[in-house]
Amino acid sequence: NSFKNVKENNQANGSCNNNTVSALNEVSEDVQDVRKSLPVYIVRNRILEEIRKNNTMILIGETGSGKTTQIPQILHEQRLEGNGAIAVTQPRRVAAITLALRVATEMNTEIGSYVGYSVRFEDATSPKTKVIYLTDGMLLREAIIDPLLKKYSIIILDEAHERTVNTDVLFGIVKLAQKERNCKGNKLKVIIMSATMDVDTFRNYYDNCSVVYLEGRTYPVTIYHSKTKQDDYQYSVVCAIFQLHVTTPANHHFLVFLTGQEEIETVMANIKQIAKESPGPPIRVCPLYAGLPPAKQLLVWKSVPEGTRKIVLATNIAEASVTIPHIKCVIDTGLVKERSWCNVTGAERLRIVPCSQAACWQRAGRAGRTAPGSAYRLYTNGDFKARPQHNTPEIIRCPLAATLLMLIATGMEPSTFPLIDAPSPDSVQASLILLKELGAIESENNPKLTVLGKKMTAFPIDPKYSKVILSAPEHGCLDEALSLVAVMSSENVFHTPLHKREEAVKAKQKFVSTLGDHITLLNVFKMFCKAPLKKQWCKENYLNHKNLSYACDIRHQLLAICQKLNMEVSSCGTAFDQLLKCLLSGLFTNCAWTRGGMTTGAGKYATASGAAAALHPASSLHGLRPPPPAVLYTELLHTRRAYLLTVSAIEPHWLHQVAPEYARRCRANR
Ligand code: ADP
Ligand code: MG
Repeated sequence: NSFKNVKENNQANGSCNNNTVSALNEVSEDVQDVRKSLPVYIVRNRILEEIRKNNTMILIGETGSGKTTQIPQILHEQRLEGNGAIAVTQPRRVAAITLALRVATEMNTEIGSYVGYSVRFEDATSPKTKVIYLTDGMLLREAIIDPLLKKYSIIILDEAHERTVNTDVLFGIVKLAQKERNCKGNKLKVIIMSATMDVDTFRNYYDNCSVVYLEGRTYPVTIYHSKTKQDDYQYSVVCAIFQLHVTTPANHHFLVFLTGQEEIETVMANIKQIAKESPGPPIRVCPLYAGLPPAKQLLVWKSVPEGTRKIVLATNIAEASVTIPHIKCVIDTGLVKERSWCNVTGAERLRIVPCSQAACWQRAGRAGRTAPGSAYRLYTNGDFKARPQHNTPEIIRCPLAATLLMLIATGMEPSTFPLIDAPSPDSVQASLILLKELGAIESENNPKLTVLGKKMTAFPIDPKYSKVILSAPEHGCLDEALSLVAVMSSENVFHTPLHKREEAVKAKQKFVSTLGDHITLLNVFKMFCKAPLKKQWCKENYLNHKNLSYACDIRHQLLAICQKLNMEVSSCGTAFDQLLKCLLSGLFTNCAWTRGGMTTGAGKYATASGAAAALHPASSLHGLRPPPPAVLYTELLHTRRAYLLTVSAIEPHWLHQVAPEYARRCRANR
């Protein structure tokens, strides 16, 4: 069913259109020339020989050398997959989708036929699919059902240098599966692919397997550093863009590295505004971030009219996962949004932090793909040198509850599971305690799934949120809980263009609940579902139609899982206390309290770890007098200050009611 949706969407967007077969053929001539010019193509026979001979291989090559798009095709052309399929994992959903679309075009086939993709809430594969691009998270979910991953005869773990938790865990799962399957004569071939990385670590881990290096094909990039420290990088970015815009030829396209959707939207609005009065060629601005709908992502690859400058505003997704052609100039803020968590409370936080030196080089390298280029770093040389050389593997600094639950569900023993870099025992222990408090496992010392825990793994979402859904019948609010979790799993639903900020804020008023942002979101979602002309309605109300439609899809799928589990769909009507308690039963680690004696209403709170944080100005609780004594927040964002995002007011004693074990531990720590 969801596959059908995907197909329809693609046709509507014209990205994979049956009506343009002739145009497609024309394109494919070109495409074949591009393929043959890629570094991978030159060494394809060597790669084929290696992979025929060995079960495991590491392939290293610069971004853009054709690893991700070509290797699966080269293997498939020789039918090396036999009766199985080829899986290619990607850390990001956007990358999985765009790459699959690209390869489908190159193979002159439609998506979901021989080439497909599988990402959370969207499956564009069919029984005949031979090459499947999927997120590392999706392959992990498949491992719960079949730890030997028998559907695949070749598994390609791509972007290994990123060291996401999911990829790191997959290294172990695939290694174990390979060992067992090879004994039974049902061989599994594994290819690890990456941009430059620390090869020895991987080689040791995979028993000294063979390594193939691709010849680099990059041009020199001149690096410029900022002379002084920049206080406001968003402002610096816009200044840099327009300084370069009036001095460089229009066919020199720009790639700008920023940290997230909101920031990209703000900078985009600023550029559009200033461009109206700026000298220089016309500008086309293209955003690129993980939550961007696929059709919009493809605009990045669309050519612009001669004499127009393309400016791509991207997150670190453009660092290595996707290749954007004709970039001659990179503008790098040197920053990345990083997820980490507090070991004591289990609460997650998002922080904007300097990226590693390796990442800075990757970013600069994007300017030298087709000709010599330049990279403008908005940080000083001293700042650059002070950075760590490589990214810390995510598994060292990230929440592990979801990953551990997955491992336990596949029947693996967390303590003996083969990992390249093991997280600290403290952090494993903290995650096990959280799983215990969520009711997913018997105890932290006996990590066996409970009945509830088993049900939790049926949902493709974080265990905190599956707990919310599973406790909803108890609170009589499954209908609302499903809607809320669905909206929260989609991307930002509010659309606030910079030049129409006032109108957007005014439009939001009709949804706002004084109980907080969660009920506000629920109001938006409910009214969206009822609106007859949804696109028009969203436009009038400054809402993001794509993200709300996506939330509807998600809700559909979550509901289907609930029905399979025989859950009764109850509604709490306007008794929102019940819904907020239900939400708290999963997100109990995300409470904050007004600080002792603080009645000035400055909106200052302390989280469970004692950190100070303020209500985000966009919160519907912002400015409320007196401020609610206790709140539940969805995310903690550290920019120059710490902000609580998506917040609701709760009664302090609810915590004891819905999460007594945690409440006790939390009190002991505070
Ligand atoms: P790697 O995995 O080695 O970084 P890819 O296989 O992703 O390289 O990309 C190889 C080449 O294919 C790129 O240099 C680019 O020319 C082309 N390419 C990749 N994706 C797209 C796309 N979506 N649209 C147009 N060209 C693309
Ligand atoms: Mg790649």
